Amino acid sequence: MFYGPVLSRRFGYSLGIDLVYLKVCVYDCVYCQLGSTTNKTVERKKYVDIDFKDFETELKKRIKNCSYLDYITFSGSGEPTLNSDIGKLIDIIKKNSDIPVLVLTSGGTLGFDGVVDDIKRADLIKVSLDAPDNRLLGKINRPCKEVSFNRNILGLKKLLDDFSGDIWLEIMILEGINDDLDSAYMFKHIIEDLGEGIKKIHLNTAIRYSGENYLKLPDRGRLEKIKDILGSKAQIIEKVIYKKYNRELVKIEEEIIELLKRRPVSINDIASSLSLNLNEVIKIIDKLLGEGEIKYSINENMKYYFKPKELKA
Ligand code: SF4
Repeated sequence: MFYGPVLSRRFGYSLGIDLVYLKVCVYDCVYCQLGSTTNKTVERKKYVDIDFKDFETELKKRIKNCSYLDYITFSGSGEPTLNSDIGKLIDIIKKNSDIPVLVLTSGGTLGFDGVVDDIKRADLIKVSLDAPDNRLLGKINRPCKEVSFNRNILGLKKLLDDFSGDIWLEIMILEGINDDLDSAYMFKHIIEDLGEGIKKIHLNTAIRYSGENYLKLPDRGRLEKIKDILGSKAQIIEKVIYKKYNRELVKIEEEIIELLKRRPVSINDIASSLSLNLNEVIKIIDKLLGEGEIKYSINENMKYYFKPKELKA
């Protein structure tokens, strides 16, 4: 359930908590780095059997062993708010630590009973909003039938009313799908209607592994234009600068490179071979690809990563 700490582009060092197994989600996003959704559901239940006393003990141990953490983050192998224990777990963290609690959610559960009440004790909530209407929600996020654009917006408005922390929105910009200027103006009106509670708007691009090979990165000029339309809260998410990469992460990175020297391996196989969380692996793979240390090939729609012999480790 705990993993990391991982270093991310936006949130620095965070201790991750994964509350669902791979891949329980309300969506099946075309850009999902975790592959296709195997359990598409709106059902909220425990999913992972958590003993609260053990959770508290492990939490204290993990915090003690980390020299520095920016956040304790609910994220992972699917939609964390589907786990009905999330509110209780946030309470346990708040009782034991001053480290800010971050929830990363698709936003597809916010319109369902109890979700806003459970996560409103966090400090920061990042909500995805990839579609400015129901048609694009279907095309990009491929949600459960119970989820609709209007329901998501009503849930987001409830979150804005009830939550006193910061809310950041993330829009995954996909070329030819939601990168047109009409969509940008629709996003602008929706976000203006949501009001001042939205503190930041992150324009992200699917730079990592994604399930659908037809996806392309939008060009930089178009991203800049969308940013200008959305105004001063909007920023384009740049690649992480790994200056603060710590010793523990370097060791994991070395282990992954060693594995990839031997044969091409999928992300899932890297995670299971080295007993790492998938998110942890994805972030390191992202970094190694960006640095040109590793490459990938595609076989039957699956990406296999390898360390080219001619490149130095
Ligand atoms: S919401 Fe997140 S985990 Fe769920 S399908 Fe989309 S990208 Fe994947």
